[in-house]
Amino acid sequence: MKPLGPIPAGFTAIDGELAIDGRKASDLVTEAGDTPLFVYSGAMLARRIADLRAAMPPRLKLHYAIKANPYPPLLAFMAGRVDGFDVASGGELAMLEAAGIAPDRVSFAGPGKRDRELEQAITSGCTINLESEGEARRALEIAGRTGHRPRLAIRVNPSFELRGSGMKMGGGAKQFGIDEDRVPALGRELIAAGAQWCGLHIFTGSQALDAEAIVETQANVLALADRLAGEIGEPIPKLNMGGGFGIPYFHGDRPLDIAAIGAALAERFAGLPPSLAETELCIELGRYLVGEAGVYLARIVDRKVSHGHTFLITDGGLHHQLAASGNFGTVVRRNYPLAIATRFDAAPEEEASVVGCLCTPLDRLADAAHLPRAEVGDLVAVFCAGAYGATASPARFLGQGPALEMLVPPARR
Ligand SMILES: *Cc1c(COP(=O)(O)O)cnc(C)c1O
Repeated sequence: MKPLGPIPAGFTAIDGELAIDGRKASDLVTEAGDTPLFVYSGAMLARRIADLRAAMPPRLKLHYAIKANPYPPLLAFMAGRVDGFDVASGGELAMLEAAGIAPDRVSFAGPGKRDRELEQAITSGCTINLESEGEARRALEIAGRTGHRPRLAIRVNPSFELRGSGMKMGGGAKQFGIDEDRVPALGRELIAAGAQWCGLHIFTGSQALDAEAIVETQANVLALADRLAGEIGEPIPKLNMGGGFGIPYFHGDRPLDIAAIGAALAERFAGLPPSLAETELCIELGRYLVGEAGVYLARIVDRKVSHGHTFLITDGGLHHQLAASGNFGTVVRRNYPLAIATRFDAAPEEEASVVGCLCTPLDRLADAAHLPRAEVGDLVAVFCAGAYGATASPARFLGQGPALEMLVPPARR
């Protein structure tokens, strides 16, 4: 038997079934028309943002990194609730524009921006987080040619990293950002060239559950920004302090202590050096904002026994849930939180593996889990499915195609 990850708080049972925002899973599937289906809870999204704002100093702005989930209704939902958006491609920038989000709230990071993406960013007026000196030259050249004053920031590759983060994106040789010792020269060059100087972006890692590690990294980020401001000779108008806030996916994971992070930040903000006194400070979060608000529902299409082991075979799989299958940057596969949605309050009574419909043994949603007895027709719920699901999985593999998606808006009061 292998343990399942912890089901996020906020889900209930109605008539024995999993309910999301007070609506039964089977009713949501009926409304959507089919399985597999991603359901995103508007009430949980709203609550997550409210809790975060309550914990953080009021001065801290909140950005949403849309690569976690760019579902258009979710972007529109977030538009009135976060201060800014971070994109990592021209395609994502276009998705925000289509959702009616003003480009002056958007910053664009990511290595390998093509000339046409730089031009799209410059002409739309979003901020470019420059990833290299070469990219900086191309951006200035395109700005000159198109007659725009570009909004330029520098993404720094810091010499430190976020301890304990699932994916390290700073420290040492990296394809991201510009090594910190070369940042001052480039900053001065951008300002001299007449660009609108937008400051620094310092992102150090993802999926950290240790508040102390985040507190330590944020202190390092502020100290580095102060030092770089001194060497550039100009204050930093905006500082994107990165993010890295993780969510519990696996057995034994504990939720991040955001109160501790907020308290430490408030203390730092009270004693900022002059170079950062007027700076607009923000964090950029993806999975922390949307991950736990998403549920992936798939239907059991077969139940079989092989060598004494029970398999529940669903119409979903890794083509929508690469991360839950353990194939998205995981070293050791562990079970995500999962439940039989149509028997949500039933006691577990058998050991079974829940698999997808793809013809590969990699396609596992839960391995040797302790579950209520489920039959063909029952719905399975994979939790923590709101981030890096639908668009971070190979939906076209084996001719399957994308899952349906649905945002349940919070009830009006
Ligand atoms: C991926 C990424 C994020 C979002 O990471 P999460 O773990 O989803 O919070 C934020 N900023 C940058 C630069 C990223 O590459």
